[in-house]
Amino acid sequence: MHLNRALSILVAVIVACLSLRALAQPDPIAITPAADIQTHFQFWEDTSGHALIDQVAVLPEEHWSLVGNGSATFGITPSAYWLRFALRNQTSFNLNLIAELGYSQLDDVVFYLYADGARIKELKTGDGRPFYPRDVDHPSMLLRLSLAPEETQTVFVRVATAGSMIVPLRVWREQAFFESAAYELKLHFFYYGCIFVIILINLAVYLSLREKLYLYYALALFGYLLFFASIKGFSFQHLYPQAPLLHAKALLVSIPGLALFSLLFCREFLNTRVNSPRLDKVLIGMMVFELLYLCSAPFLDYHLGIQLASFSALLFFSLLLVAGPVVWMAGERSGAFFTLAWSPLTIGVLATAGRALGVFPESFFTEHAMQIGSGLEAFILTLALADRLYREREDKISAQAASLKEAQSRNIAQHLLTEALTHDPVTGLPNRNRFEWMVEQQLQQAPERRYMVGLARISRLDEINRTLGLARSEWIMKRVAEQMVELAAALPFVHSIRDDQGREERVYHLSGDCFCLLVDVDKAGSDFSALNIALRRLAEPIWLDHLAIELHPRFGAASYPEHGRSAAELIRNAHVGMEIAPRGGNETGVYSPKYDIYNESRLTLMADLRNALQQNQMMLYYQPKQDLESGQIVGVEALIRWHHAERGWVNPADFIPLAEETGVITQLTRWVIGQATSDLADLHNERQRLSVAINISARDLESSELKDALDLALQDNGLQAHALTLEITETAAMRDPARSLKALNVLAEQGYQISIDDFGSGYSSLSYLKQLPASELKLDRSLIEDICISESADVIVSTAIQMARSLGYRVVVEGIEDAETAERLKAKGCDLLQGFWLCKPKPIHELKQWLKDYETDGRAARSLGL
Ligand code: C2E
Ligand code: CA
Ligand code: CA
Repeated sequence: MHLNRALSILVAVIVACLSLRALAQPDPIAITPAADIQTHFQFWEDTSGHALIDQVAVLPEEHWSLVGNGSATFGITPSAYWLRFALRNQTSFNLNLIAELGYSQLDDVVFYLYADGARIKELKTGDGRPFYPRDVDHPSMLLRLSLAPEETQTVFVRVATAGSMIVPLRVWREQAFFESAAYELKLHFFYYGCIFVIILINLAVYLSLREKLYLYYALALFGYLLFFASIKGFSFQHLYPQAPLLHAKALLVSIPGLALFSLLFCREFLNTRVNSPRLDKVLIGMMVFELLYLCSAPFLDYHLGIQLASFSALLFFSLLLVAGPVVWMAGERSGAFFTLAWSPLTIGVLATAGRALGVFPESFFTEHAMQIGSGLEAFILTLALADRLYREREDKISAQAASLKEAQSRNIAQHLLTEALTHDPVTGLPNRNRFEWMVEQQLQQAPERRYMVGLARISRLDEINRTLGLARSEWIMKRVAEQMVELAAALPFVHSIRDDQGREERVYHLSGDCFCLLVDVDKAGSDFSALNIALRRLAEPIWLDHLAIELHPRFGAASYPEHGRSAAELIRNAHVGMEIAPRGGNETGVYSPKYDIYNESRLTLMADLRNALQQNQMMLYYQPKQDLESGQIVGVEALIRWHHAERGWVNPADFIPLAEETGVITQLTRWVIGQATSDLADLHNERQRLSVAINISARDLESSELKDALDLALQDNGLQAHALTLEITETAAMRDPARSLKALNVLAEQGYQISIDDFGSGYSSLSYLKQLPASELKLDRSLIEDICISESADVIVSTAIQMARSLGYRVVVEGIEDAETAERLKAKGCDLLQGFWLCKPKPIHELKQWLKDYETDGRAARSLGL
């Protein structure tokens, strides 16, 4: 085939030589003074690519084909193309002309200039060679020539290229060419300048915010810049004129590069991971393709590279064209911006392709369509990024405001809770918790001094309540409180402190009808006359609606150290003193052990308890804990029961405090641990996940026996530590905080669950409780009792639950006696529930039966709509 063609050229050449035809003259392009230069040329396809100028110059006329408009596209072809045109000066002066092949990507271009049948110039150029030397310092393929008046010159051009064979020929008057080139240059530098500034802005934003999005965008724009600069030949001319190979690779690399970073940017900007996972997968697939292409681009054959580039560009553009609307449809603002930005670029690309294919006419717009499109895109996306920055800042500010508000309301809640736990709701006076805490503090600080706890009880309060109603009796209590505070203020020996808000505390409201104070006996000396006067004043009736209300107060007192060494004991004994004071005499009953009917029996009771423990006469009852979420029973609490041969059932509340005081408690706890673990092992036969809670007292924490007893019991019964919960009351944990904390930490490390019992019944410092390694908090029954009838109780419980949960505790409510309270607490977010409403404490065999019944039918009835 090739041989045939070569032969035919040879024949043609021989025929030409034989016929002695001179250099063929095409119809010349006439250059007249007035009219524009109308370019046309003839071409001949040299399929062998080997024809030489001397052969081509004498080719017979019929081999040449005419291109009337001066511009032709031959696609990708291995052939060499020969162009031929003649120029004739029809003016009366010398003309300096420039012939331009306006496509900078042509690899190999050789101009041959003939005048009067003789070759006067030969110029080799094309981007397959080093940029220089050129006739004109410009990326297009240019030939300069000058024509004398009436002179005709003929130009042959040989073009060979691996890319598209696009040959837009144009002949210029020299001045017109330079003017146009200067104008073009201005446009380009405006475009490159704008894009460059946008790149810098995005890089700066990236550096300050460290958001990848802006980096991707800057890199994508850089890809565009490189692409345009390469395709227009600018980068070749200005950056690496001596490296044609690099020039070819730069173009190949810029296409997948800009695509890859555009895709990365698109993914971040549209947040497709969230907004459209399917689109996200497609984008990732496309990215993988572009990445592979990018890595292989430097090694690809130019031809294959260009084909891949067209394919990838087509895919990439269509994909990003639908990406915006997809996300827009999902209701995202960024989708709208993206669609808006990507459309002009797509139009630009279509217009450029249309121009190259000859579908659209040559015009300023079609020629610069891609630059205009990409410029608009960059502008709109920059607006979108600015919008995004603005919104993010707004969001951050409002989030900050919200968290500030939350912190404030948490503080208020914490304050309210502390206030509620330490003050009486009616009189606003500090309550029993506060009094006990204050006395304990005082006894610790100055144990060598002598004190007296004084108590006053409005003994007719019940009666007043019944006859005058709650509102009036509350009014009376407030009056009494005010009067007491006033009287106490006049007595310098009444101990006073200030709370953390600076309020002075002298008189405490112990319970409904009972007030108390602490007297510093050393300060008072032996003179109690002022106190007695004050007490008499207190006994005077109070006037309400012209009615003198008799209060009948009764007074009791107990002294430290004689009558007790702890706040609780002193209060209790002041009560005993009050009971034995003669009625109606306004006299203060001072405690005396000989009147204390409880006292004698205490010792015998403890002896009996020791015996009962030794002889295994005690019993354990179990009360189930229900998980409010699942309705399942997740654990049981072990509660000790004692049936005394003579006294009958003895209440734990009566013997546990005694056992603690006398130290019998360690023995009791040891027994409970042994019994509870063996019962638990038994329960595990059917319900492996059940845990048992054991009540631990402060005394237990102080001895090292506890851990050993626990470990041993686990071992004996084959149990894991986490199956045991140790319930410790907040007051017990507060007795010797440092020591308790240490002991509890050791136990928690071992895997035992720690639970804070009776939360809300004492004055505990939350900041201390927070340090304990507890995972559970049990709200005391006294807190919960009234939530269905008192709004303030309800608020306090809500606050306590919220706070406990925010500190990470599992919240247990105990002492639930009715469904209404249970419903309310579930709604407030409690985790576990315990109480008579669910089940009273039961001996082990009854518990087993109950569990069975519960699982079959009881669960529906007792599990709050689950
Ligand atoms: P606690 O640890 O707060 O135990 C809960 C108490 O509330 C139990 O009283 C239980 O029977 C009772 N209870 C449960 N549900 C309800 C309800 O719905 N309404 C009412 N009114 N009460 C309910 P119990 O058994 O009389 O125990 C009293 C306290 O004695 C316990 O309070 C605990 O501090 C102590 N205690 C009981 N057993 C032991 C023990 O084995 N060791 C130690 N150290 N203390 C124990
Ligand atoms: Ca308990
Ligand atoms: Ca409790």
